[in-house]
Amino acid sequence: MRPWGEDHDKGTRMAGASIIDGKSVAARVRADVAARVAERVAQGRPAPGLAVVLVGEDPASQVYVRNKAGATREVGMASIEHKLPASTGEDDLLALIADLNRRPDVNGILVQLPLPKHIDAAKVIEAIDPAKDVDGFHPLNVGRLAAGGQALAPCTPTGCLILVRSVRRELAGLEAVVIGRSNIVGKPMAQLLLAASCTVTIAHSRTRDLPAVVRRADLVVAAVGRPEMVRGDWIKPGATVIDVGVNRVAGPGGPGSRDRLVGDVAYEEARAVAGAITPVPGGVGPMTIACLLRNTLQAAEMAQF
Ligand code: NDP
Repeated sequence: MRPWGEDHDKGTRMAGASIIDGKSVAARVRADVAARVAERVAQGRPAPGLAVVLVGEDPASQVYVRNKAGATREVGMASIEHKLPASTGEDDLLALIADLNRRPDVNGILVQLPLPKHIDAAKVIEAIDPAKDVDGFHPLNVGRLAAGGQALAPCTPTGCLILVRSVRRELAGLEAVVIGRSNIVGKPMAQLLLAASCTVTIAHSRTRDLPAVVRRADLVVAAVGRPEMVRGDWIKPGATVIDVGVNRVAGPGGPGSRDRLVGDVAYEEARAVAGAITPVPGGVGPMTIACLLRNTLQAAEMAQF
């Protein structure tokens, strides 16, 4: 696949940091995927298919699934949706996954998390064919990413890396600090940055003197889930700051006023010091679905017909 980055936006220059516009970078990723899907179809090959499985009625999950299905169709791929009741048994879900694994028209399988408590999520993830694991959560893909092999990498960190590359051409040798060590964001982010030859530190809740660790960083990725925890005076002047956090807090009128979304980084403070920064919302968020589509295309291109 063509490497990403050099042709993407360089961010919008404002006083202080460049603002990395995730919406426009994500739109370019989606347009690129759409063009490649159209090319495949013009060559007589099938459009890639993405199956999304939702168990239960969690309202946030329903919105995510609807958005993913809409975005899939927009790039010319087939969207296969399975909405199952919360009472679905683990065996029935595993049987559905086995069926999707066998179907040649399904290139990607995504099981929306969280799953109801009576279903073992790890077992379900491990049942997905690793070649169709577009979330990149299967242990085989996790291992391949760590070993530097060809892997389907998790969507959010992949999106973060594309955003970093949109403003920094050369990553080799940079000091990168990833705050957070989840399997979904922090750990795979660290692996991707290591693969890009950064010197990587993973910080977490037990890290001593986090501000001092972050001050070393040319590149900071915050994936914590704590509103505005990373302060402006933790940021090295000129650093690139990627804020993965999505936190809903009370609006300026206090409790009861309209909620607003903030990241894990105190945006205004950090913007005054950083070289480039992602806003929340409009930074990392739009990249996740764009990278899901990109992974589905990658899975289809790797599949044998
Ligand atoms: P997790 O809760 O799984 O992980 C949070 C990590 O932050 C843990 O490793 C934890 O450390 C660490 N942490 C918690 N408190 C501190 C602290 N005081 N100092 C340093 N580290 C701390 O979260 P996720 O990785 O799933 O998500 C992180 C954030 O990213 C959330 O806000 C989430 O909503 C957002 N997100 C956004 C996405 C997007 O598309 N934009 C996608 C996925 C997530 P420890 O391991 O020691 O407990």
